[in-house]
Amino acid sequence: MRQKRAKTYRKLMALYSMSFGFRQPYQVLVDSEMCKAATDSKIELAKQLNSVLQGDVKPMITQCCIHELYLLGKAQQPAVDLAKTFERRKCNHREPIPGDECLTSVVGETNKHRYVVATQSQPLRVKLRSIPGVPIVHINRSVMVLEPPSDATLRSKEQNEEQALHASGSEKRSAATTASEPPRKKKKGPSGPNPLSVKKKKKGDIQPTAAKEPAKDSVGEKRKRDEDEAPAPSDPQDEPRRKKKRRRKAAADPVETVES
Ligand SMILES: [Zn+2]
Repeated sequence: MRQKRAKTYRKLMALYSMSFGFRQPYQVLVDSEMCKAATDSKIELAKQLNSVLQGDVKPMITQCCIHELYLLGKAQQPAVDLAKTFERRKCNHREPIPGDECLTSVVGETNKHRYVVATQSQPLRVKLRSIPGVPIVHINRSVMVLEPPSDATLRSKEQNEEQALHASGSEKRSAATTASEPPRKKKKGPSGPNPLSVKKKKKGDIQPTAAKEPAKDSVGEKRKRDEDEAPAPSDPQDEPRRKKKRRRKAAADPVETVES
């Protein structure tokens, strides 16, 4: 695999791990057409899944999907043999149903078991894109491809991040106050000492009119500014929080940046 593609896939799988809790070995539901495509184009399916998903994989096949292969008869024996090496996923469909429907029901509405789906079915792929957090793999001209994240996946990822930020608010707050202290000091630093030293000199040397008034003004302004800043310490999370968010995004979002 080319370096750039490997990097894209690695970052994409990092997204699935961080935002949706995917863990290795990745459970990959393989459909019957995928088994056929793999044997037809002499692809080592498990090995390719391994490299595309950038980690250990556990290929699985549902009862309905392997049943579909049995129906194809002797001509597809290699595909059957391949499927037999996979772990069988019980789907509890007493009468076998079409593979697409079976996989749809096994993935469910939320993909709570965190399956990767390897399928050649275009309609199924379209359907799975509406469920957040379903990595989809297919074979295109003998090349195994991991789809870019769907809109539903990206939206859900952003929501998860928002929630994470609010949920751990107390933790963030303590971190935020410590983080916000240095900048506050900086602001006071340069403005603080200067007026004081200026003031002292002026007390001794130049008492009368012209010099005094500007000095007072500047002190007044400083005070005003300090008062304006005063609310900041009571609500210090805002700025660091925004910073964190940005940093997080940069870390979790690399897939998009690679492409552009
Ligand atoms: Zn089934």
